[in-house]
Amino acid sequence: MDGRDAVTDAHRDTTDATDEAPPPLAALADWPEPDPQRPVVDLRFEVAADLRQVTGTERIVFRPDLSVCEVVLRAWPNKPATARAGNALEVTELRIDGEVVPPILVPAGAPDGAPATLIEAPLEQCASAGASIVVDLAFEVRLGTATDERLGVAQAGDLAWFGTAFPLLAWERGQGWARDAAVAVPGEMATSETFELRSLEVEVPHGYDVLGVGVPLGVRDDPATGRSTHRFAAPAVRDVTVTVGDLEVLEEDIDGVTLHLGAPAGTRASLDAWRDQVVDVTRSLVDHLGPLPYDDLWVSVLPDQTDGIEYAGAVQFGDVDPEDERWLLSHELAHQWFYGLVGNNQARDPWLDEAFASFVQAVVDDPDRDPFRPPGRLARSDGELGQPMTYWAAQERPGRTYVEGVYVRGSDALVAARDAAGAEAFDAALRDYLVTNAHAIATPDDVRAAFAHLPGAVAVLETAGAFATGS
Ligand SMILES: [Zn+2]
Repeated sequence: MDGRDAVTDAHRDTTDATDEAPPPLAALADWPEPDPQRPVVDLRFEVAADLRQVTGTERIVFRPDLSVCEVVLRAWPNKPATARAGNALEVTELRIDGEVVPPILVPAGAPDGAPATLIEAPLEQCASAGASIVVDLAFEVRLGTATDERLGVAQAGDLAWFGTAFPLLAWERGQGWARDAAVAVPGEMATSETFELRSLEVEVPHGYDVLGVGVPLGVRDDPATGRSTHRFAAPAVRDVTVTVGDLEVLEEDIDGVTLHLGAPAGTRASLDAWRDQVVDVTRSLVDHLGPLPYDDLWVSVLPDQTDGIEYAGAVQFGDVDPEDERWLLSHELAHQWFYGLVGNNQARDPWLDEAFASFVQAVVDDPDRDPFRPPGRLARSDGELGQPMTYWAAQERPGRTYVEGVYVRGSDALVAARDAAGAEAFDAALRDYLVTNAHAIATPDDVRAAFAHLPGAVAVLETAGAFATGS
């Protein structure tokens, strides 16, 4: 102790700086409040003993901001990529304000033999804006083995995961119902308003670990049935994902965010290695974009997946080495701001989350380690950035053309726009865009408005075709 008196002033200054607490990573309260009229959702999943079947119930209290004559829900597990792997979501009962309503089922892109992706429930009488509509649903989810996607059951070991595996309210405030068709391109195509997840209950055979979303509220064991119910709640999310299995779990409070990491035994990297990279990447993103908009961050490592899928306050990753594949962590975690905080219609305007996430990844990461930029992989074409998923699905090599057109070209266009405007002015406008559109569903017009005072940036995006759809 005495020895410390001998240190030089310079050394003491350094020591003091190091001892200072770093700024908080997560601060939902630093962002604008979500809409007090947002939907309120109670969701319950009961997972079968073999982890291959999930029975669910859901209550949505929905207060539309426009008059509506129907309620429209989406069953995204029935899109081609997941339906073909044996996954399915079927509604078994639908009630509106307590009355049973036979749903109208529209394939909307579901492959032959798969259940519909679009579920419509006509109202007995049209409801005016601001009315409260209570939707009660019962549903069944079937999980396909070894799906390289958002839901499935593992090829090896006791592990199941199910993201977007419940009827998702397809409302866009100010616009109406989003009925965009599912397409056979790997990628997201959902539209979902921020909702309050008032309760999430996941009932599993006793002994399994459960990763959810939001704040964990404890586990209730029922010795009579040998089952346990894990409870969660979240004030503002767009989606829900759950991982159930025989997992190693790490939970740690880091500078204001509670990190929940889970992986089956035998994955490539340790949970400590995941924690270090997730925290480091999150810190870079927070420096660039503002606080993480979730107080809890849930990360599942799923060996049947190859890359990553984003949710609000949660991410699914394949069994990668998080240091070697740091770009993937940057990309998926950037989606916490571009998709989680500021939503978009992922079918109509996929660039609003994918190009921005790729761009942020390019700005915060070492460009030499960016796999989206191998030179000369595909001939590039200009002016297509704002195209919808149906456009990319119609191309000769849909998946690769989509990645090239939206992730690579989109990121390139945003980097060029930043160069044109000056990094400082562009980054400030980007943060304003996040604040202005927090918890909403943004459109390309919102991007144009956010950068309107930087005409050089707008011109670059215009040339890239960012505003082509004029939504
Ligand atoms: Zn992405």
